[in-house]
Amino acid sequence: MTAPHKTLCPYCGVGCGLEVVPQSRNPEASPETQRWQTRGDRAHPSSQGMVCVKGATVAESIDQDRLLYPMLRESLDAPFERVSWDVALDAITHRIREVIDTLGPDGVCMYGSGQFQTEDYYVAQKLIKGCLGTNNFDANSRLCMSSAVSGYLQSLGSDGPPCCYADLDLTDCAFLIGTNTAECHPIVFNRLRKHHKRNPHIKLIVVDPRCTETAQVADLHLAIRPGTDITLLNGIGHLLLTWGALDRGFIDQSTQGFQDYREVLRHYAPSIVAERCGIPETDLETAARTWAESQNVLSLWSMGLNQSSEGTAKVCSLINLHLLTGQIGKPGAGPFSLTGQPNAMGGREAGGLAHILPGYRLVKNPQHRQDIEQFWGLPEGRISPTRGLTVGEMIPALEHDQVGLLWIAATNPAVSLPDLNRTKAALQRSPFTVYQDAYYPTETAAYAHLLLPAAQWGEKTGTMTNSERTVTLCQAFRPPVGEARADWEIFAEVGRRLGFAEQFRFATSAEVHREFVQITQGRPCDMTGISHENLATRPIQWPCPSQGNPDTSPDKHNKRLYTDHRFHYPDGRARFMAYHEKGLAEPVDDRYPFVLTTGRLYGHWHTQTRTGRIAKIQKMHPQPFLEMHPRDAERLQLADQDWVEVKSARGMARLPLLVTKNICPGTLFVPMHWGALWAESAECNALTHPSACPISLQPELKACAVQVVPLSSSVQLDTLEKLGEAPPQRAAMVQRDPVESSRP
Ligand code: SF4
Repeated sequence: MTAPHKTLCPYCGVGCGLEVVPQSRNPEASPETQRWQTRGDRAHPSSQGMVCVKGATVAESIDQDRLLYPMLRESLDAPFERVSWDVALDAITHRIREVIDTLGPDGVCMYGSGQFQTEDYYVAQKLIKGCLGTNNFDANSRLCMSSAVSGYLQSLGSDGPPCCYADLDLTDCAFLIGTNTAECHPIVFNRLRKHHKRNPHIKLIVVDPRCTETAQVADLHLAIRPGTDITLLNGIGHLLLTWGALDRGFIDQSTQGFQDYREVLRHYAPSIVAERCGIPETDLETAARTWAESQNVLSLWSMGLNQSSEGTAKVCSLINLHLLTGQIGKPGAGPFSLTGQPNAMGGREAGGLAHILPGYRLVKNPQHRQDIEQFWGLPEGRISPTRGLTVGEMIPALEHDQVGLLWIAATNPAVSLPDLNRTKAALQRSPFTVYQDAYYPTETAAYAHLLLPAAQWGEKTGTMTNSERTVTLCQAFRPPVGEARADWEIFAEVGRRLGFAEQFRFATSAEVHREFVQITQGRPCDMTGISHENLATRPIQWPCPSQGNPDTSPDKHNKRLYTDHRFHYPDGRARFMAYHEKGLAEPVDDRYPFVLTTGRLYGHWHTQTRTGRIAKIQKMHPQPFLEMHPRDAERLQLADQDWVEVKSARGMARLPLLVTKNICPGTLFVPMHWGALWAESAECNALTHPSACPISLQPELKACAVQVVPLSSSVQLDTLEKLGEAPPQRAAMVQRDPVESSRP
């Protein structure tokens, strides 16, 4: 019997270790035809053998609806035709040269993904930012955690979550805000919940407008009005200040900006805060009192803070409370951002957003640009000093014909971007779109001129970093299907064909990784002590410099940052970043009286590209829905299961109603997972708006103003009939552009 292949779950940022083994009924099959199953890896330090339904079923999706060959077409109306890799790559290089001649390097845009391995990310940066000289690389992490990045940067002087999962077992106050951890990061939640159950004195506070599964087990649930997070956090700060529950020594020796913060807090008296947030004043006081009296306060957050037009301010307002009370850099404490994607962290390390460069460097910093140019063997000044376009900015750039080539990889923007009708219209205008993905069809494939088949999880070896900075080697356990290639190999080959042979001499992903870690030397995310070779024995947490052998270090896991209370500003001090609340970018009014919030369900992942193809998960979450409080339903004379039309200023969706007291009156919830491939008119992003945080440029996917009207019975019947058929658009796409299925 062969040893199991060790890898990482390719879904969320918890980063659970998996073991992959052949299905028992066919143990002797060839690697190409073998069916596989996954189980938790007990030796993985982050997850200790636990997995949720997604990790347990992921192997079921790997042979479903795979894109096997490069496919090219003249225009979006024409059928795809199979082409060789040679033709496909020539088409890309020819186009890139043409675009650079006509529009300049900034006419090229790439939109990548937290599904990339770090090696994919790194080679893409070298190609786009280094060799082509444009910073127009952004990733779907922009939608997910860029506010956490900018919040850490502002408050602590550098990105990088300071905590580790062991803190979940050591805290005596877990403060969860803007995170439905039970459904979205279930293994983190399991660990916290176990600690909470075993130790009744441990307090769990959950801040969320919905009474989610997370909130249902909290000691205190603060169901604040959407968009009032900063008011709440400043209100807690006000009380801590009033009670003198501060760490004066920490504030004096390790921070700056306290006086300004104190001035801001003055405006957040409890009665005002309670009224604005829509919570009892006593609950506010209980939350502040619990924070004040706890030895170790751990805050967890996710998209609920990040996806906001004031996302950075929200993150900083939370970190301020940790600075006020010295709750950072010690066991069981600290501000802990939970990342959404499996390798959003690796993307940050490799410079995979439009404003950053590898090794936690910034595009705007001339020294950082020079470091990278020298390291990559490129002439001085090759890296543009201008921040690249974020994905949100690529949409207007497409509208204004400023994009000559759009290259999308491992993500599905025709479902996941806000203001989807506008997004689709912009994608339709793109003169040449390359779409590189493992699956076909997807909603975005409909907007592509060239499809490139990507090897996916299990078909390529590379690294991913989870929320607690633990790097895991994801081992390939089978060859890529059809002619699929690893993303980094595709980028490297394009680089070579463009004349950068020297820069892309990689033969294996281990070589890519070896080069990448050198660029992190001396940086906050120093990984020079990490290699594919030592990762083969166990996952390793960074920082891990080559000096100080990580294998013999007594603290080889569960590292915390800032234990010496020295932060990444030149003076070593963290910053209080004081913000007043501005409120939602799109407040409700008479015409659109509800706040619509969006989010994930336990079983599905993002736009269902994988999970929609797994029967167990489809059965678990068969259809989208709209949550509404009974009081609102009664007012509108609606009942549970009634079909309604939800409209915003930008679009509409048709959904069955789920009447529940688990949501505040005036607020609605719709899951984000259903694109046009999986349901008729159920796209939550047809409703959302693109307004973004001015600092992180992360859009406010969590709140928009909508109205709800009952569906007339004839429209209702029509919608139900369509739902009874195979997902309509999917059927149409498969018919128009047949691509051989790899299912045996
Ligand atoms: S918690 Fe996240 S990483 Fe762990 S198995 Fe579930 S989806 Fe995968």
